[in-house]
Amino acid sequence: MAEEQDRISHLPDDILIRILGLLPTKDVARSSLLSQAWRKLSPFSSLSLLMFQCPDFLESCRKNTDVSSFINAIDSSLRLRPKDVNLARLRLHLDLDDIESESLIDSWIDAALERKVKELDLYLRPRSIAKPYGLPAKIFSTTTITVLSLEQCRLEICGDIDLPALRKLCLRQIRCDEQAIRQLISSCPLIEDLDIASCGGLQKLHVSGLANLHRLEVICCYNLRRIEIDAPSLQHLVYHCGRLPCDMVLTPCEFLRELILHDPHITNDFLQNLDSGFPNLERLEIDSTRLQRIEISHHQLKRLELKLTPLQKEAKLKIDAPNLQSFTYSGYRMPLTSTISSMNTSSLREAEIHFRNYNDYSHFFIPQLKEFFEKSKNCQVINLLIKSKEELIIPRKLRPILSPPVYDIKHLYLRVSYCSRFQYIIDRMLWMCHPQTLSILSGTNVRFLKVLYNKFRNKEENPKCCTSCSIKCWRHYLKDVQIDSDESRLEIDQIIAMPELSQKSTNCKVRFRLKWRSQLL
Ligand SMILES: [Zn+2]
Repeated sequence: MAEEQDRISHLPDDILIRILGLLPTKDVARSSLLSQAWRKLSPFSSLSLLMFQCPDFLESCRKNTDVSSFINAIDSSLRLRPKDVNLARLRLHLDLDDIESESLIDSWIDAALERKVKELDLYLRPRSIAKPYGLPAKIFSTTTITVLSLEQCRLEICGDIDLPALRKLCLRQIRCDEQAIRQLISSCPLIEDLDIASCGGLQKLHVSGLANLHRLEVICCYNLRRIEIDAPSLQHLVYHCGRLPCDMVLTPCEFLRELILHDPHITNDFLQNLDSGFPNLERLEIDSTRLQRIEISHHQLKRLELKLTPLQKEAKLKIDAPNLQSFTYSGYRMPLTSTISSMNTSSLREAEIHFRNYNDYSHFFIPQLKEFFEKSKNCQVINLLIKSKEELIIPRKLRPILSPPVYDIKHLYLRVSYCSRFQYIIDRMLWMCHPQTLSILSGTNVRFLKVLYNKFRNKEENPKCCTSCSIKCWRHYLKDVQIDSDESRLEIDQIIAMPELSQKSTNCKVRFRLKWRSQLL
């Protein structure tokens, strides 16, 4: 160890500085405790990135060091740094409880601004929610900052804002009003990336005049009642509504590629006009609208995710997206057959159906799922996630009218987390489609996997069932089953060896390879 230290101490200073530059700040702090050579270089003063983050730094140091040495490390690294050595980035993630006076933070920010800091990232947890740290006005008139990320602070604009180089602005849990945000946004014309989250003081938000804005995320601003966005270069928009219904006005924009809306207050007209307003849209995600009629028509759309609420059990869906490659549907009911049959699915490569608490047993369900399998037969992958109180039963009277199983599906993934009789799910699923592989996803109940494995293992060569049915069950078609990998085999062996199977879930994926007879002999 002594020899190792000697070697480090004999390295040339410029190499030592390079090594230090690659280390996180907390490791640099530790290294300065270990080595004379590091200390001699006063390493903080040469680093271009200073990142002080109390959760990891303090937790590891508090055992041996008091908080004051951490605070001293920040203080000396900023104050002792020569004024002509610029700082690329300063991150301060601190608990104000650990700081004697907020003026200390003011002085650190001053020191960083004097050293022409480009990226400033402040997350200052207040002593009490009522008294967040008030940001000094200086932050808002500096010509060098390109990235500004502020969390849990108070923003009060007094005086002019001048942030001519700012490209990225992130405001989280900031105490501010709409006037302050409006003034800030309108004074930073080069912003490309804007992130506003959990700013409870906002009731209205107007984003306009930003010709370069290509990414905007507005998330959980609980009191927001109206948001207006007019950004001609916007490519990516994420909007999560807060507690209250909030009107959204989005000016058409030809570059928009991704639109992700959670609980939006939108109209069906908005959806119907997507094609003309946002002609290059490729990804659309809508989670929990209140709409009972959802009609989406778009010719460029490649990826669509729809998540419906229990109140939308009767929602009417119409999807016309001929270039759709990936479709995810999550809801409490299968989409109506009319929706599925009207979908143009020739481009579809990946489909995911997620049943959430399906307890509305209806025999319509199975034909719809079967139709969905038929429509998805070009898919490489189908994910089916079932959390159901009822079994997916094909009533006996319905069996004669079912068409033969779908063969073209290559890979079927199942996650079955909750059900009273697992054997029905297996029988019905394999009645409807004969995939080349069946993967059981992690999160599936272990009892389901055991029932499945036993069904495969105990399958007879010439089953005696289905004598009176024209379309026979999967047992007659299945030629061979193989467990796909050693990991899958190990997981199954462990589950079989368990004496008492609880509601535990598998924690890895188990895959079976299935060989089918295309026609019955
Ligand atoms: Zn049978």
